Amino acid sequence: MTISLFSELALRPELQQALADQGYSTPTPIQAQAIPHLLEGRDLLGIAQTGTGKTAAFTLPILQKLADAGIRPRPGQVKALILTPTRELAIQIDDSVKNYGAHLKLKHAVIFGGVGQGRQVDALQRGLDILVATPGRLLDLMNQRHVRFDDLSVFVLDEADRMLDMGFINDVRKIVATLPKSRQTLLFSATMPREIADLAAKLLNNPTRVEVTPQATTVERIGQHVIHVPMAQKRHVMVDLLADPSMTRVIAFSRTKHGANKVTDHLNAAGITSAAIHGNKSQGARQAALESFRAGKVRVLVATDIAARGIDIDGISHVINVDLPNVSESYVHRIGRTARAGKDGIAISLCDTEERAFLRDIEKLIGQRVPVMELPTATPRIATPAPQRPAQPQRRPQHKRPEGHRPEGHRQDGRQGAGPGQNRAAQGANRNAPQGDRNRPARVNGPRG
Ligand code: AMP
Repeated sequence: MTISLFSELALRPELQQALADQGYSTPTPIQAQAIPHLLEGRDLLGIAQTGTGKTAAFTLPILQKLADAGIRPRPGQVKALILTPTRELAIQIDDSVKNYGAHLKLKHAVIFGGVGQGRQVDALQRGLDILVATPGRLLDLMNQRHVRFDDLSVFVLDEADRMLDMGFINDVRKIVATLPKSRQTLLFSATMPREIADLAAKLLNNPTRVEVTPQATTVERIGQHVIHVPMAQKRHVMVDLLADPSMTRVIAFSRTKHGANKVTDHLNAAGITSAAIHGNKSQGARQAALESFRAGKVRVLVATDIAARGIDIDGISHVINVDLPNVSESYVHRIGRTARAGKDGIAISLCDTEERAFLRDIEKLIGQRVPVMELPTATPRIATPAPQRPAQPQRRPQHKRPEGHRPEGHRQDGRQGAGPGQNRAAQGANRNAPQGDRNRPARVNGPRG
């Protein structure tokens, strides 16, 4: 049976009310396919990425199950555990728990590293219906005996492939080893590298498999463009592009933290409000940047791939790839930040000669050529980085590789490590996991359609 309205799902009135409060009447495909099975207590293998509505797909049935049981959590015990790789995702999932559970009296909390543990410990000691956590901090607190899982009945492993990329998979295994064997388990992953397939086979008991493929449909709705421009000129091109007032809310992606900072500084110096989020920023600074962006006080958010994962901001008008990701699938994740919730969006990629191999990989993945866009007319032709950008254009724009640039030759696979065209000074930053995204498996389950 195909579900086309939330009201057709056997969800409690409190949850129906919360959905109505959010203005949601139609389940997304993953919600329609997963929720009925989850309400029956089945395990689930969800092949889905952020942006598909997967958070509600697992949160609603968990809330229902715990509310139906109606037993208060014991001190120090957790009834449902949701593990997710990043602080941002953890906070967003906890927000969803709060929103969807607004009319229920369930206790929930979120824990992650990089902040003091005092309040997290207090929350754990009181006992929780739902705990959202990143693996490192959770393991810390488990080792300090602040939390136990004797009463746990649901376990969600979110973004399993990212856990692997970010080096958290052993922490995850250690945590899983302490959970009761009899439980409902849900595993979500955008891709299925071998290690995740093996883990899923171990963790899941006769799971329902739900696969949603937003990539193709999302990609189709996004106006994609590539501008061929030397690395040294990219920041200037950004300023010129941003002269377009239709660029109201822009996420710019940089492969490195250092690169993100440089772009932010340049934009701010040019009078374009901008903030950076990446792993070297404190949690407070990241939240502040996100809030300013959400509130429209900052027009351009410059992010690294990992820092941007799962950030849920509506109304992104444009995505700018300051540099091309060396893993094609990140491109799909990046441009998918625009065109959310059925809207259209525009993605512009700035491609240096040395990133052409990445562009070819991306085009192979998405199954289409990315149309070339001319340099903005205001952009002067420069071959070397100028300390100060001239106020007036000097020459006609062009998009041929200028003299003095290294050829792209030596990259064969186009995948491993930081790109050759990447800012050399930033390579140290790239070594610091988890920001670098360097272990990402190259395969994807798409594109389809
Ligand atoms: P997620 O993939 O869980 O991060 O969700 C992506 C976005 O879709 C979030 O902004 C959700 O609030 C939103 N969303 C989730 N379910 C629905 C729905 N059924 N209708 C409209 N928006 C939704």
